[in-house]
Amino acid sequence: MSSNPVVTRQSRGEQLRRARAAAQLLRAAFPAVEQLRIELSFKDASSNAPAAQAYVLYPPAPAFFTYRCPYSDCDGEFELESAVRRAMSPRYHTEVGSLACGGFRPGERGSKRPCDLRLDYTITAVPDGAS
Ligand SMILES: [Zn+2]
Repeated sequence: MSSNPVVTRQSRGEQLRRARAAAQLLRAAFPAVEQLRIELSFKDASSNAPAAQAYVLYPPAPAFFTYRCPYSDCDGEFELESAVRRAMSPRYHTEVGSLACGGFRPGERGSKRPCDLRLDYTITAVPDGAS
């Protein structure tokens, strides 16, 4: 089996783009949400961590919460859908947690090593009419 990491990553990116395009809109998935703030920060034990990211989603945005690992040579991704659901249950609040990247990055001599980049997320769900 050929495993060209560049091709693999590109096709995975294409899959994610399609999934995002096919996702329900936020207003359909979560009718009572006015705004969803997603803040991501990263910690890497062995090198400088990638820059933090922040997104604000409004009702017309796709309800799609899979984010690629920010390392361009990593095939991992972070799945935040369950955290988003927790931020809305039982009532809208700020949900804080962390995840570790389960992807792999190229290592010495063609080997692969686990990425293990840590993601700390803060997800704030703002209900309709609250702001
Ligand atoms: Zn990674």
